Amino acid sequence: MLTIDGSFGEGGGQILRTALALSLLTGQPLRLERIRARREKPGLRQQHLTAVNAATQISGARVTGAALTSQTLTFEPGRVQPGAYEFDVGTAGSTTLVLQTILPPLLLADRPSTLVLKGGTHNPLAPPFDFLEQAFLPLVERMGPSVQVRLERCGFYPAGGGIVTVRVEPVARLAPLDLRERGRLHGIRARALVARLPRHIAERELQTVRAGLGLNDEQLEVVDIADTAGPGNVVTIAVASAEVTEVFTGFGIRGRPAERVAQEVVRQVRDYLDAGVPVGPYLADQLLLPLALAGGGALLTVPPTPHSTTNIEVIRRLVPVSITAAQVDERACLLEVANR
Ligand code: ATP
Repeated sequence: MLTIDGSFGEGGGQILRTALALSLLTGQPLRLERIRARREKPGLRQQHLTAVNAATQISGARVTGAALTSQTLTFEPGRVQPGAYEFDVGTAGSTTLVLQTILPPLLLADRPSTLVLKGGTHNPLAPPFDFLEQAFLPLVERMGPSVQVRLERCGFYPAGGGIVTVRVEPVARLAPLDLRERGRLHGIRARALVARLPRHIAERELQTVRAGLGLNDEQLEVVDIADTAGPGNVVTIAVASAEVTEVFTGFGIRGRPAERVAQEVVRQVRDYLDAGVPVGPYLADQLLLPLALAGGGALLTVPPTPHSTTNIEVIRRLVPVSITAAQVDERACLLEVANR
């Protein structure tokens, strides 16, 4: 059994998710110790536990330590069984991070799967649904599989109650992905979503975005929804270029002025445009695993975050690939993945 120390690098939940995904794919039994040791509330939280349970259910794994706050887990996977599953985080914990754990094995399974995921759909510190749908999954689909997602209902912290459905059509092998160019800018669109909150929040956010990025009214949209378990607000800016669409998100938090939420996401978009790279920081850390499974690929991105470097270490331990990072200039770095 391979032991992985969950406290190295970032020491967060990514180590757990990447390790579980790769255990399912390789059949490698794992012992994870000191899980999320560097987080304020270490050990498994509801979102991580749901990911462990989902990984267990799709593979009939033998598991010990799958409990809230647990910092040690042993995981011996069985054969991955694609099919129809429903996983409910039970809190506002992120549905997309549960998907991050089980999607890789389902992309390479021998039959399609359909999933219903319940919990948060737009969580700070997790991929928001729009990022998943418009940025991450189109690139995964370029590698061969088909992954259709639908946002049935938004879920925000703290009420949760979101629902995402997923349909995965797998392939036998993932094709490598080479993303070194962004290509011509096709357009920028900003959406401010308010759920059970005053519409002026979204309007103020979009005014800030319009001024900050020099957009016109056709590029802006207010989405006002009522069908949620609780209130929520996000600003999503999609930057569509010839080779890739990137999505950046600002999260409304009680007490944070709408203008500040919007300024923060404008800054992310400006940094991305100025860097001249196709792949932003979040997309980079999330594409590393599919690239490793494909046994090759390249991403021109911003200098790796601690999150990416931690993810690289976990991947290297479980997959026979080399992952190199070469600084291209102050703002750009080329990540290359190759079979060892
Ligand atoms: P925890 O220990 O609380 O689970 P973690 O270290 O696993 O935290 P984070 O570093 O917060 O988690 O990142 C989790 C994942 O969410 C990463 O894959 C990251 O790329 C993704 N992510 C975070 N914020 C965004 C965002 N705004 N847009 C897209 N993806 C995001």
